[in-house]
Amino acid sequence: ASSTPHASGAVPTRADLAALPAYVPGRTVPGAIKLASNEVPGGPLPSVAEAIAQATSQVNRYPDMGSQALTERLSRELDVAGERIAVGCGSVSLCQQVVQAMCAPGEEVLFAWRSFEAYPIVTQVGNATPRTVPLDSDHVHDLDAMLAAITPTTRVVFVCNPNNPTGTVVRREALTRFLDGVPGDVLVVLDEAYREFVTDREVPDGLDFARTRRNVLVLRTFSKAYGLAGLRVGYAVGPEEVITALRKVYVAFSVNALAQTAAIASLDAKDELLARCSDVVLERTRVRDALLAAGYEVPETQANFVWLPLRERAVEFAEHAMQHKVVVRPFAGDGVRVTISTPEENDVFLEAARTFTR
Ligand code: PMP
Repeated sequence: ASSTPHASGAVPTRADLAALPAYVPGRTVPGAIKLASNEVPGGPLPSVAEAIAQATSQVNRYPDMGSQALTERLSRELDVAGERIAVGCGSVSLCQQVVQAMCAPGEEVLFAWRSFEAYPIVTQVGNATPRTVPLDSDHVHDLDAMLAAITPTTRVVFVCNPNNPTGTVVRREALTRFLDGVPGDVLVVLDEAYREFVTDREVPDGLDFARTRRNVLVLRTFSKAYGLAGLRVGYAVGPEEVITALRKVYVAFSVNALAQTAAIASLDAKDELLARCSDVVLERTRVRDALLAAGYEVPETQANFVWLPLRERAVEFAEHAMQHKVVVRPFAGDGVRVTISTPEENDVFLEAARTFTR
């Protein structure tokens, strides 16, 4: 049966949704420091706040359905034709659109595990079948194993670079070799939500691949480096046919007017915003070094967070941090992800980490 009748006599819903893992958002606890959602610590720049305030006078009108002004702006910014750019209600929406646009029921979506928790959810919501390949012992994508896991029914492969939640990266040579091996009818999605925090020059800019290959799509977001997580806007750059398909499955008007305006204002303030990211990058090194000195295993990270593979003690660690009024993100039995913030907030976290009995 494709639906579950409820004992109470309520209308049945899709049977397979009962087994769907829930997206667990980072908790917001009043009075506590939130290091659980990979947000940047600073609020909007005055210029961005002003643009948003001005746009509110028009909210009786529907937004531009095609995010045309933002698309044109991105086109100039990235030197990519507008026909190859789709704007979405956060890049998580674009992940879901990719599955809907690419997969017939039962076709396969491949990704590393552990990786971004939305991948299995959007795959199952889209009636496709998730296939996972474990990260290697260094918490890095095992691209050779992923290549070997591609089957004739694989339609999409997500490669999260840097990977959420481990912060680890795949470098140019390995990614090029992987892309050379992937069949041309499989779409490789390079999820670069944390791209702006990357300082390792061997980590390729996915756009270089998206510009030259017919089966590569790059996802970026305004939620992280650009500090607009609360407004929900991201974009995809890829083959024109795929972009056209993404637009077909787009929920009409889901990128709201304030988000479009704020994204353009953020691109206008790009230098200032990216300077804030440099502060986070400096703190990333300091925090990781301090954790290593305290005896923790911490994979090298290129994102705005660190990963502590504490395995069966992950939840216990998060509870201990909570006693220090710090909210981190535990993945039970696996590890804890901690967002890099200001020096002051990071110090509170480091004190919590140093006092955790190990
Ligand atoms: N991709 C990755 C790897 C992420 O970590 C996130 C956010 N946690 C997203 C995509 C989605 O971000 P948003 O929808 O806010 O653009």
